[in-house]
Amino acid sequence: MQLQFVGCGDAFGSGGRSNTCFHVTGASVNFLIDCGASSLPALKRLRIARNDIDLVLITHFHGDHFAGLPFLLLDAQFSRRTRPLVIAGPEGIETRLAQVMEALFENSSKTRQRFELSVVALRPGETSSFGAVQVTPYPVVHGESGGPFLAYRVEAEGRIIAYSADTEWTETLIPAARDADLFIAEAYTYDKVVKNHLSLATLVAHLAEIGPKRLVLTHMSDDMLERLDTLAHTAASDGMIVEV
Ligand SMILES: [Zn+2]
Ligand SMILES: [Zn+2]
Repeated sequence: MQLQFVGCGDAFGSGGRSNTCFHVTGASVNFLIDCGASSLPALKRLRIARNDIDLVLITHFHGDHFAGLPFLLLDAQFSRRTRPLVIAGPEGIETRLAQVMEALFENSSKTRQRFELSVVALRPGETSSFGAVQVTPYPVVHGESGGPFLAYRVEAEGRIIAYSADTEWTETLIPAARDADLFIAEAYTYDKVVKNHLSLATLVAHLAEIGPKRLVLTHMSDDMLERLDTLAHTAASDGMIVEV
């Protein structure tokens, strides 16, 4: 299995990075984790076959994680996708998706797709299966609006991938990412504590409790990007591929 960082930027495109979108592929799986506003051009730049993707997992409803869906769905419609697609995310996703479709492309939420589209709400602590992918959401802490906010522990092909999503430190990250083969963690700032986001220093202080086999940092602000050459941990970059 492999995970490619289609986009690993923050909401502000810091460092010219694309909004959050990870593409996971293996013998029996093909899915995205998050689909931020700039994800469709980023997928095309990396020549990723969008119509082979079976599942999109959404962590929360901020534009840099969610607002790529209208573009992805219109692209699917116009490229004559036939393969069914599942979009799964926090409770309320059906309404939020219709709202963002209408805001960006009027009447697009009422278009009948040529392919089967399922929109599924996920509840924290309840494991759901989508083909060969098992997903367990954990609640995280990321402010008042744009939620619910979910971190994901994803199991597929005997491997575990965990993603913190955007969050300040919360104990739920421990079970979400414990012993994961790959833990993708937000490291928004270096050591400055910012509400609703995670600093690298805070993450490192808890790393022994989490014990991931591999850690990759994402969603970095300029404060982190300035220090990329001196970091002791692996930082994501757009297009980077990690074997899992
Ligand atoms: Zn974000
Ligand atoms: Zn966010």
